[in-house]
Amino acid sequence: MRSTSEISTESTTALVAASRTWTPKRVLVTRSAVGLPHTAEILRRCQAAGVSDIQLLTGDRLTGLRGESERQAYALAKSTLAVVVAPPSALKPQPIPPSADWRIDLARGCPAHCQYCYLAGSLGGPPITRVYANLEDVLAGIGSHAGRGTVTTGTLERGHEGTTFELSCYTDPLGIEHLTGSLAAAISRAGRGEYGEEVQLRFTTKFDAVAALVDLPHGGRTRARFSVNAAEVADRFEGGTARMPARLAALRSMAEAGYRVGLTIAPIMPVPGWQQAYGELLDEAAAAVAGVADLDLTVELITHRFTPASRDVLLQWYPRTRLEMDPDQRSEKRSKFGGVKYVYPREVMTGMRGWFDTELAHRLPQARVLYWT
Ligand code: SF4
Repeated sequence: MRSTSEISTESTTALVAASRTWTPKRVLVTRSAVGLPHTAEILRRCQAAGVSDIQLLTGDRLTGLRGESERQAYALAKSTLAVVVAPPSALKPQPIPPSADWRIDLARGCPAHCQYCYLAGSLGGPPITRVYANLEDVLAGIGSHAGRGTVTTGTLERGHEGTTFELSCYTDPLGIEHLTGSLAAAISRAGRGEYGEEVQLRFTTKFDAVAALVDLPHGGRTRARFSVNAAEVADRFEGGTARMPARLAALRSMAEAGYRVGLTIAPIMPVPGWQQAYGELLDEAAAAVAGVADLDLTVELITHRFTPASRDVLLQWYPRTRLEMDPDQRSEKRSKFGGVKYVYPREVMTGMRGWFDTELAHRLPQARVLYWT
C-alpha cells in the first residue's frame, strides 16, 4: 500500500507535468450556465481539447469537490473547470490599486501550482477554476465604467492610458483562454472601440499561448504583461506554468503584433545571489524585446508578501514547500482595514528597490517603471 505522501507527490508531479497547456480532467456546468451562448463555446473548446467528462449539474452548487485529504481536494479542484454564472457581486467593477482603475473578472481561480499563489487566502474553498458564462454581463462593466476611475485616471504618470481595467486579478486569463475565448472577446471589443477610445485593458500571465491573440483587432487598447522571475524562483515555485524563455518569447510575439506589453516582476525574493539572478532575468528580457519597432514596455515590481490566511492555505496545499513564510523574518504592514501583511524588512526592501532602479535604467532603458510594492 502506498503512503499518502507518496500519492500526493505523484499526483502533484502529474498535475504539473500535464498543465503547461491545461486540460481539465472534468468540466462541471451549473444549471444557470447551461444554455448560455458562451457556455456552448466553452464546451466546444473543451471537447476540442479532449475533455470527455462534462457534467451538467441539476443545481448551481458545485459538488463532488471533497477529497479524503487536503491534498486530494486540492488535486481534484485543480483538475476541474466549472462553468458558472457570475453573481451580481462579481459583476460590479472594483478599484484595484496600484494596477488599474477597475477590476473585471472573466474567471476566478487558476489551474497552475505556484507555491506563493496570490489567490490563496483571498478565494475561499478548494482552488477550482470557475469561468463565467454570462460574458455579456461581465464585459458590460467595461462600458459602464469607461470614463470613470480614480486609481490611474487623472495621474500624471498614467492618466494618458484612459480608464484602465485589470483582467487578471483573480485568475490567469491566458492560462484558460484556449478553453474559454473570454480574453479574446474582451480584447477585440475594446480594440474595435465598443467601449470608446479612452479605455485600456490589462492582464498579466505566466503562460505563453498567445497565437490566438496576435491577430486580434486589439487597437493598442490592451497591455499584455508577462509575469517573470529569476530562474531559481520560477523553477522552484511556479508549477504548471510556461517556462521563462517561453513567456519572454510570447511577450516578443505580442509586442511585434503591436500590443502594449509589460513585465510583472513578481514576487521578487532576496534569494541567495539575487542580484545576479535578477540581472540575468533583465538581460534576457532586454534580449527578448531587442529590435521590436514602436515598443511600449512597462515594468511592475512586486516583492513577496503573505498574510496569516494565505500562509495557512499555502501550507495546506504545499506542506513541503521551501518558500520562506516566516513572520519573524518579516515586517508587519497593516492595511487601512486592519489586515496584516508580512513584507520584507525596510532595509531589505530599500536595498532591492535601489538595485532594481539602477539596473533597470542600465539594462532595460526602454522600460517605464509603473510601481514598486
Ligand atoms: Fe496563482 Fe498566478 Fe500561479 Fe495561477 S499563475 S497559481 S493565479 S500565482
